[in-house]
Amino acid sequence: MTFRATILTLYPEMFPGHLGFSLSGKAMERGDWALDTVQIRDFADDKHRTVDDTPAGGGAGMVLKPDILAKAIDSVANDTRPRLLMSPRGKPLTQKRVRDLADGKGVVIVCGRFEGVDQRVIDGRNLEEVSIGDYILSGGEPAALTVLDSIIRLLPGVMGNAHSGTNESFEHGLLEHPHYTRPQVFEDREIPAVLTSGNHAAIEKWRLEQALRLTQERRPDLLVDD
Ligand code: SAH
Repeated sequence: MTFRATILTLYPEMFPGHLGFSLSGKAMERGDWALDTVQIRDFADDKHRTVDDTPAGGGAGMVLKPDILAKAIDSVANDTRPRLLMSPRGKPLTQKRVRDLADGKGVVIVCGRFEGVDQRVIDGRNLEEVSIGDYILSGGEPAALTVLDSIIRLLPGVMGNAHSGTNESFEHGLLEHPHYTRPQVFEDREIPAVLTSGNHAAIEKWRLEQALRLTQERRPDLLVDD
């Protein structure tokens, strides 16, 4: 089954961007996933093709107009795919949500610009606000590419080594252990002896200890049960 992503944006040229390269690019060529973009501006009806207007109540910046954006959203076949709005106010994206999305048949993603979008279209079209972190981008496009990237690498057949999807940071609530490869000595630093011991039980134990240590040091919040 092809995972289908539809992106609503004022900058369709930004897609597929980096997703056209490497594993996701090859997966796209194979038809494991497909992308289409909708130019929001195509739904503007005045001669200047206006998509934004000043904020009600005053203040800086502009707001994406609800009537234009709603028409753009309604042009997308009404199916059961989740409709996401990239938004710093949204629920922060987690690996669990990414897995759920990858298990589905696709996503529709609305990219905001300016100060954001009129609240009535968020409510009226049931958009799920998703944030990629506590910082402000200038537009939703890089956020949409990030969300898609995290989903596509989980689609069946996309990653060469099927194993490497399940052992990553966050998958088990821990940050991942450190990695090493040859040469055995690099600038006076050696690969930890246990990793070249051939003792698989000892290696697993070391990796778990390292993962716990790193998580404790860097992300103690991940260790708190919720
Ligand atoms: N005025 C808004 C920020 C607008 S930034 C506020 O203070 O909340 C313009 C657009 O960039 C947003 O509509 C959103 O689509 C996107 N964007 C910015 N930061 C983002 C983030 N952390 N996660 C997801 N989308 C983001």
